[in-house]
Amino acid sequence: MSKSLQAIRGMNDILPDQTPVWRYVEGKVSRLLDNYGYKQIRMPIVEFTELFKRSIGEVTDIVEKEMYTFEDRNGDSLTLRPEGTAACVRAVLEHGITGGGQVQKLWYIGPMFRHERPQKGRYRQFHQIGVEVFNLDGPDIDAELIVLTWRLWGELGIRDAVKLELNSLGTSEARARYRAALVQYLSSRLSELDEDSQRRLKSNPLRVLDTKNADTQAVLVDAPKLVDYLDEESRVHFEGLKARLDAAGIPYVINPKLVRGLDYYSKTVFEWVTDKLGAQGTVCAGGRYDGLVEQMGGKPTTGVGFAMGIERLILLVETLEQIPQELARQVDVYLCAFGEAAELAALALSERVRDQLPNLRLQINAGAGSFKSQFKKADKSGALYALILGDDELAQQVVGVKPLRGQGEQQTIAWDALAEHLATCVVQG
Ligand code: ATP
Ligand code: MG
Repeated sequence: MSKSLQAIRGMNDILPDQTPVWRYVEGKVSRLLDNYGYKQIRMPIVEFTELFKRSIGEVTDIVEKEMYTFEDRNGDSLTLRPEGTAACVRAVLEHGITGGGQVQKLWYIGPMFRHERPQKGRYRQFHQIGVEVFNLDGPDIDAELIVLTWRLWGELGIRDAVKLELNSLGTSEARARYRAALVQYLSSRLSELDEDSQRRLKSNPLRVLDTKNADTQAVLVDAPKLVDYLDEESRVHFEGLKARLDAAGIPYVINPKLVRGLDYYSKTVFEWVTDKLGAQGTVCAGGRYDGLVEQMGGKPTTGVGFAMGIERLILLVETLEQIPQELARQVDVYLCAFGEAAELAALALSERVRDQLPNLRLQINAGAGSFKSQFKKADKSGALYALILGDDELAQQVVGVKPLRGQGEQQTIAWDALAEHLATCVVQG
């Protein structure tokens, strides 16, 4: 016997009992984004490695140690996308759809790949829904992105469990001045920093700010503050964003240490965090990246966006027991037929009913079986009603309609009247 085959660690099957909640969450998000005027874009899952190195930054965690990179048969270095922004920017540039200041409000959904240590809420293949907006540079659009996620949390019943953290990183010039001040300060207390932070001080000093190490955190108390280095433009932008969130009644906290892991952010950064999922508490994160498009070879084009982790969202919806009851039931009626002649009639009848009630979830028995076994399957399907078609019903062109969930007596209904009858007794979503 060969060794049994297994999925790769951290890459999960989403089994049939899980897909209803996935489709529920994905459906909510896609409808909401449609309603706010965002258009879907679909990018390939594999890109040239160079794309991610250039956009995300060589010294980020993702590029340094999390990417799935391989050589293809041509000898090109390819990478399974670890996030969506880079590919989205590549796509809009390649097709020229942000040229001449054209506004694009885009969203995408799909798997992302990072070689991390798998644990609850952290996987090697995970799924994101991302949004990117190009050529709108005001705080109004930053606010819209936050407002629409707030609405989503409301629709999913998780609003009370998430908190908005906000910061401004300033323009790249302001950030450079701040970085210099921070490096000077931290260098003067180098020996008190943890090893990781000592390394980051050289490669990506702002990342030291979100260290989890208590000793380093103590050193940071007296460190220069980003807010004191903000340029006027960024300060006004940030005030504009806060005023809009206040107007929309969305609570937030300013987190001066919020810097995000990726290199390309400027001005606004934000995270929606929860304390209900342990260490993996960020369900949605984003910010403005006004310099990225130019850095990737395009004309100056502002950008702002976010990505949410679908697994973490679903975990949160489940933890808070916000899965709607209706999701449990996938079948409205289950049609049982007994004998070859009845089976043929049942097939024709079921197709007629589907013509008339396109939203009815009708399952027709397959694999024949005795009365008892077909009823058992009907009941197990979760259907509200079993339809019964045997020799007697065939002769009279009727079906028995048997309630399976204690809603009254069995009735006999003529084939011609069946669709109308079902329309009245099955609530359709
Ligand atoms: P974290 O700090 O949790 O590692 P991140 O800053 O690396 O997150 P982003 O690159 O901003 O995450 O991705 C946006 C969102 O995607 C995260 O807020 C999270 O919800 C989700 N996400 C990121 N990495 C993973 C992962 N390995 N498994 C599941 N979800 C993830
Ligand atoms: Mg990460």
